[in-house]
Amino acid sequence: MLQVKNIPIPGYEKVITGIDDSAGLHATIAIHSTLRGPALGGIRMFPYGSPDAALHDALRLSKAMSRKAAINELDVGGGKAVIMGDPRKDKTRALLRAMGRLIETAKGNYIGAEDAGISTGDMDVIAKSTSHVTGLSPERGGSGDPSQTTAQGVMLGMRAALRHKLHRDALPGVRVAIQGLGKVGWRLAELLARAGASLVVSDLDERKCRDAADRWGARIVPPQEIHAADADVLAPCAMGGALNAESIPQIRAAIVAGSANNQFDDETAGPASLHARDILHAPDYVINAGGLIRVYVREILKNHNLGPWLRRIDQTLGIIFERSDMTGDPPMRIADELARQRLVPPAETATIHHDEPCLGGAR
Ligand code: NAD
Repeated sequence: MLQVKNIPIPGYEKVITGIDDSAGLHATIAIHSTLRGPALGGIRMFPYGSPDAALHDALRLSKAMSRKAAINELDVGGGKAVIMGDPRKDKTRALLRAMGRLIETAKGNYIGAEDAGISTGDMDVIAKSTSHVTGLSPERGGSGDPSQTTAQGVMLGMRAALRHKLHRDALPGVRVAIQGLGKVGWRLAELLARAGASLVVSDLDERKCRDAADRWGARIVPPQEIHAADADVLAPCAMGGALNAESIPQIRAAIVAGSANNQFDDETAGPASLHARDILHAPDYVINAGGLIRVYVREILKNHNLGPWLRRIDQTLGIIFERSDMTGDPPMRIADELARQRLVPPAETATIHHDEPCLGGAR
């Protein structure tokens, strides 16, 4: 039996926990904002050490989703769901179905999607007990795994950073250090290699590194050294917190541009110290928005032309970098301010994208 509890948290519209002991479910859904539309965000399954740690992650990630949607002017809000447990051992169909029932209690104000620990196939199972999900397999009418589109967005953002910082657009000769060859990092490596960049790679899984070396001639460095690799661009594509007091002073790249969420472990000191070292940072929730854009455009707008939407990443980063130059503030601060200004109902957004159709709310 699913027990649902409201947890009032200042600054968040709704936070609920759902416990179903018979199904082994202990989950939290955090809805940060529905100002721009229903809160769209992934369902993450992770072996959190405590319910508080799971709650903390849901809060942090749902806020980032609000910013990601707002800054790209998507008519959706920000939310995230987390399930406590090891996806390799604890994930059962009963648990996923119970998760669907929990999502259903949010009455469409939260729309789930896949995230770490949850696959497209899992989304198909969750969809058996709720209609408020995206990211189903193509066979079930969904848009499938978003990682390829996330990698394309990172590539666009990396080019914007290269133009701004190094005044170059062409990839041949550019050295990119990729931390993490997972779903996004691997595809990014493929795109970069195809464009002529040279790669330095690292992953906890040595097999992935060896494959990258065989395919693209990538140079392998140990995980504890990748942040300090001799490269033009550092692309964090593993877990959050890669940019911290220990790693920042050792970074040799001129640019940091990668897919990982919540790259700074300290959101105040981190951006300032990277900026003080004259390293250009592409804010994570701008550059990694490709996956969200794909789900939004394909499944909510029912549109298949992703191109103009993805180019928003490039345009928005251009604005952020210019403002950063003008004000002297780190790009992350500029992004936070821009996201705050755009976190308003869609009709009130002063759009900068005049060449695209004006959208009504997707609520
Ligand atoms: P993933 O789990 O498929 O890949 C992560 C990879 O990083 C794994 O291969 C893992 O072995 C490796 N790794 C972990 N710690 C490492 C370390 N210390 N050093 C080197 N490698 C390490 O995840 P993913 O879907 O590729 O996502 C990567 C990042 O991008 C995550 O932070 C995720 O939240 C973010 N992101 C992903 C998407 C998407 O579409 N998948 C969208 C937006 C943001």
